[in-house]
Amino acid sequence: MIKYNLICKCGETFESWFLNSAGFDALRKKKLARCIYCGSSSVKKSVMAPNLPSKSNKISKKNKLEKNIKEQLVGFRKYIEKNYKNVGENFTREARSIHYDKKTSQGIYGKATPEETSELLEEGIEVASIPWDEKSEN
Ligand SMILES: [Zn+2]
Repeated sequence: MIKYNLICKCGETFESWFLNSAGFDALRKKKLARCIYCGSSSVKKSVMAPNLPSKSNKISKKNKLEKNIKEQLVGFRKYIEKNYKNVGENFTREARSIHYDKKTSQGIYGKATPEETSELLEEGIEVASIPWDEKSEN
């Protein structure tokens, strides 16, 4: 079993369990993966980042959590910058090339639009998007 954070077009996020990654895709194709808030089938896998608190912990601890999240993201970003290859605007192409040609097992990161990201997901290419603080670049 695998747990995904899902995000709906209504903006709500929620967690759901699936048999496996293909299980989610199959359910989504049949429009059986539905938002628990509005019932829409326009749901997709949401941001994946380690140890982020779920939305259900919200508000009272919000400020503290935001600080923690920020610290975790900085750490996560440092890890990615150190271990992954920055392909910048070529991310979508590189991700496809890795998926289809299996030419390298090195992780990559870069930029993709939400549309490109959802295209990759529909092709079965696992991508994760994380909030990235552009201001701290340069
Ligand atoms: Zn919804």
